[in-house]
Amino acid sequence: MTNPSVVGIDLGTTFSLAAFVENGRPVVVRDATGIALVPSCISFHEDGSVLVGSAAKERALSDPEHTIFSVKRLMGRTLADLKKELELIPHQIVERETADGRKVLHVKIGGREYTAEELSALILKEVRTRAGNPTKAVITVPAYFDDSQRQATRDAGRIAGFDVLRIVNEPTAAALAYGLDRRGSGTVAVYDLGGGTFDCSALSLSDGVFKVLATNGDTYLGGDDFDRLLMQVAAKEMGIDLATRDAELLQHLRDAAERTKIALSTYESATFAISITGGFRPPLAYSREVTRTEFEELIKPLIDRSLDRCKAALRDAQLKPAQVDEVVLVGGSTRIPFVRKRVGEFFGKTPHTGLNPDEVVALGAAVQADILTSGRRDMLLLDVVPLSLGIETLGGVVDKLIHRNTTVPARAMTRYTTGVDNQTAILLNIYQGERELTKDCRFLGTFKLSGIPPMPAQFAQVDVTFLVNQDGILTVSAKELRSGAQARVTVQPAHGLTTAEVDQLVNDSIENAQEDFTARRLIELRNKGENDLRHTEKGLSQAGDKLTQAQHDAIASTGAALRTAMAGTDITALQEAGMAFARATNPLATLMMNDVLRKRFGGSGEGELDAEKL
Ligand code: ADP
Ligand code: MG
Repeated sequence: MTNPSVVGIDLGTTFSLAAFVENGRPVVVRDATGIALVPSCISFHEDGSVLVGSAAKERALSDPEHTIFSVKRLMGRTLADLKKELELIPHQIVERETADGRKVLHVKIGGREYTAEELSALILKEVRTRAGNPTKAVITVPAYFDDSQRQATRDAGRIAGFDVLRIVNEPTAAALAYGLDRRGSGTVAVYDLGGGTFDCSALSLSDGVFKVLATNGDTYLGGDDFDRLLMQVAAKEMGIDLATRDAELLQHLRDAAERTKIALSTYESATFAISITGGFRPPLAYSREVTRTEFEELIKPLIDRSLDRCKAALRDAQLKPAQVDEVVLVGGSTRIPFVRKRVGEFFGKTPHTGLNPDEVVALGAAVQADILTSGRRDMLLLDVVPLSLGIETLGGVVDKLIHRNTTVPARAMTRYTTGVDNQTAILLNIYQGERELTKDCRFLGTFKLSGIPPMPAQFAQVDVTFLVNQDGILTVSAKELRSGAQARVTVQPAHGLTTAEVDQLVNDSIENAQEDFTARRLIELRNKGENDLRHTEKGLSQAGDKLTQAQHDAIASTGAALRTAMAGTDITALQEAGMAFARATNPLATLMMNDVLRKRFGGSGEGELDAEKL
């Protein structure tokens, strides 16, 4: 193998591995003995040396205190996010605050503290070394990973010495590995049952672009649970309490259980055997046959649970199982024949199983990496806009042009006009966020289009275009259609936003939706009132003499009432005042309309609408 310069990496909870494209085909990186999977396990030695992978996993037996598993569960999290994780990770986890007030998790091992990013970087570095030190990588993450978890993964890649080309969703990578993008369009379900986690995603494919429609899962459901079920059976028969603090005994039981489970994927029956001699304990030996049927009975409730999650994902994606065109199996645990059978039955079609389920994500990441670096095919568009982008309109309301979760590149256009006569420039404020009002969104920048020739108000037509490119960078351009005046500015959204801020913004928008809506409605009604009053004033100066005194009085009194309502915050009152004013100004509107008609058609005034009869 020639050393690749770019790889795709599956950074898993239990196993990690790399793949790259060679002669147009993705292949996984294997060691001299043919093994591709690197256990996501790190062991720190007193002398300062660090072991990663299977060597570290072996040391877990003799030195559990200095060995860490499942770092992926800590990525991009705060102490408040972690509940179950804290019980399972036998290390002290502390949260430190940075100078600028951000919270960062640290794991204490052997008197030193490490961030989750640093620990994941050690795994990535091991994977990188095995691949011959490539410089660029695409790294995969679960579809449910939020921005901070993705950012942490990206940072880990950078710490490991990679130029991280892209963070890609695991289910999308799996679909790519099977070349499903070549279908052009359709829907794909990805069932991923790994060591400690389960997730199911529904993807839509159109024009070769994948989009995650919905994802669901259980972050505590996987092969480890199947091992535990077998351990329980054995422990009961051996008279051992699994709550024992005997780490070595537990590890032996766990290994025996996993071996049995794996054998049962091939054979109808397997032997659960454990034999411990030496050390400080009395010799221990136990052996028992387990049949496949027995094992299936044990895991059935867990498989049912996973299918319930699939149902939920499909419901969110508004799909019926029969509408799914392709089913992809991912994760080592989908090697279990019973899992394949049940998933096939659920979707009513045979899942793809041609590739190794524990390699398929890395293979897909390699395909994506190759696409990004070789320019061989059109770029696959897999990223989305994290927060909505919009423009401030009258009264501090945000007019959203591009909505959150739109796939990039994204383009949106809206048309504006000038508000006053002879306005030669238009100023736009650009905001990012989910809330309705600018004061609750993040200000990104100001944009000015000048050089508009003097024209009456409402006459200029300014097309404003937002374009977010593949890297999430926003370019705003504007063009006045009558004069051709145009301007363009590049804004960098999302940057400088910490994820906590992003989370907060999203939460705020859900919690405050009702309040926002009210505020927005109020501003809109006030703007409308202001406009109506101004137009009426203009109309009165032109055609006022044709109105009766009663009509004048009605306009004056309802106009004053409208002003009062505009100063208040009662939406219903404001709405009613607006309608009363509209009724009172109706005769004037008719007169003005006639005026326009007369001017345009040179009419005599005959057949005019009669203001007094209205
Ligand atoms: P993750 O994505 O969670 O890091 P993997 O997808 O590599 O992990 O899956 C690891 C799990 O797959 C482990 O629980 C392992 O025991 C299980 N596994 C691997 N091969 C088999 C097999 N042949 N039969 C059953 N389970 C298997
Ligand atoms: Mg996985």
